[in-house]
Amino acid sequence: MAQILLRPNTLTETTRPGTRRGTYFVQTWGCQMNEEDSEQMALALESIGFVATKNIQEAHVILLNTCSVRKKPEDKAFSLLGELALLKQSRPEIVVGVCGCMAQLRADEIRQRAPHVDFVLGTGDLLQVSGLVEEALQKRKFQKRLELPERKGSIVTEIPQRQVRRAPKLKAFVPIQYGCDKFCTFCIVPTTRGRERSRPTEDIVQEVTDLTLHGTREVTLLGQTVNSYGKNLAEGRVPFSKLLWLLNEVEGLQRIRYTSPYPRDFKQDLIETIRDCPKVMEHVHMPLQSGDDEMLRTMKRLYNRESFLQIIDDLRAAIPQVGITTDLIVGYPGETEEQFEATLDMVERIRFDGAYMFIYSPRPGTPAADLPQIPYAEKQARHARLVEVQNRISLESNQACVGREFEVLVEGPTPKDPTRFQGYTREFKMMHFPARPEFRGQLATVRATSAHLWGLSGEIA
Ligand code: SF4
Repeated sequence: MAQILLRPNTLTETTRPGTRRGTYFVQTWGCQMNEEDSEQMALALESIGFVATKNIQEAHVILLNTCSVRKKPEDKAFSLLGELALLKQSRPEIVVGVCGCMAQLRADEIRQRAPHVDFVLGTGDLLQVSGLVEEALQKRKFQKRLELPERKGSIVTEIPQRQVRRAPKLKAFVPIQYGCDKFCTFCIVPTTRGRERSRPTEDIVQEVTDLTLHGTREVTLLGQTVNSYGKNLAEGRVPFSKLLWLLNEVEGLQRIRYTSPYPRDFKQDLIETIRDCPKVMEHVHMPLQSGDDEMLRTMKRLYNRESFLQIIDDLRAAIPQVGITTDLIVGYPGETEEQFEATLDMVERIRFDGAYMFIYSPRPGTPAADLPQIPYAEKQARHARLVEVQNRISLESNQACVGREFEVLVEGPTPKDPTRFQGYTREFKMMHFPARPEFRGQLATVRATSAHLWGLSGEIA
């Protein structure tokens, strides 16, 4: 985000008292779940009379929706909080809230390092934000809300209510599961988001139906281990594949995606559902993290090279055109050159269509953070080697698509050229092509004519 340039406090036409209560600005870091959380908080603020602004300097309520998965977004949040201290000096009436994973984890430190913050709100129930803003406006007393929903035995009894934005949205994220039970040694998510909780099936179907009635054509189902969905429901176990079939029945919905499945829970019924269920897209984003069995064991990932390769083989046998992407970590504590090369070897063998590749970042509070760390320069060098290999494979994978026709959901003009449109194929490849505005929201058949690292260029067939 651009540096804040301070200017005198002004009440603009749109924020004059009596017309509306003021404006809000939400800064989001992190994953798609966080983006969705930010939207829920935006709706909560709108329900009490605030409207969005793109200008943080003029906002009356500023929310930082934070991420703790790596150090960098935490540093960015503290840096913005430093700038907001100056803003609050000149406009003491504004409300500043810190929300999400870093709030859940480091509430006291935030209070200490940024005393101008009015409240911290963890990940448990973000709709509480409206009440916190009201209280901050009245009392000006620091507040913190960090309760995470309890799971009573194996059954989830508390799932926060959600609101559905009524403005048309072609593609929407729908959380179906919160928290995580896997406790990988590098990951802070089970601490920041709590134990795994699935939303009731009928709530999800209802939400997707509502979204579709308001123009949504593609949904992405979100969960930390999305295919473990359905274990802790009062109504009894509902397999993830069954949920996909139920959503396939929603009239007007055209495509269903989901992220991210956990390898150990990726079973044959899901492979058959991807193959047979018409609206489920042929794309699987399945995190491998490391290609070395010992590393995987140390990370407490509950699969190994062989079982991962087996899933890939089964997927490609059932759905030859399936797009497969992944997450990879380099420089986990103790990773030897040999173990890193095992990751390179898996990347060469599997030939992922794309990958998010991360340098391991120690997260205080996780077991891996206390282990002896690899020098940063070594981690960086390994990361550069991995990126080089994967980029070559991604480009080759895209080149192999040239000449083929793809179904693309036309999203709108590309950011750089308004005469060219963009959308994703069912295999989750980005496609750019010339089109007319009336194509927006339609499924088009596009022939790929050239390949790039980022995706494909084509023309409507
Ligand atoms: S599966 Fe592992 S990496 Fe993923 S959210 Fe759970 S603990 Fe974190």
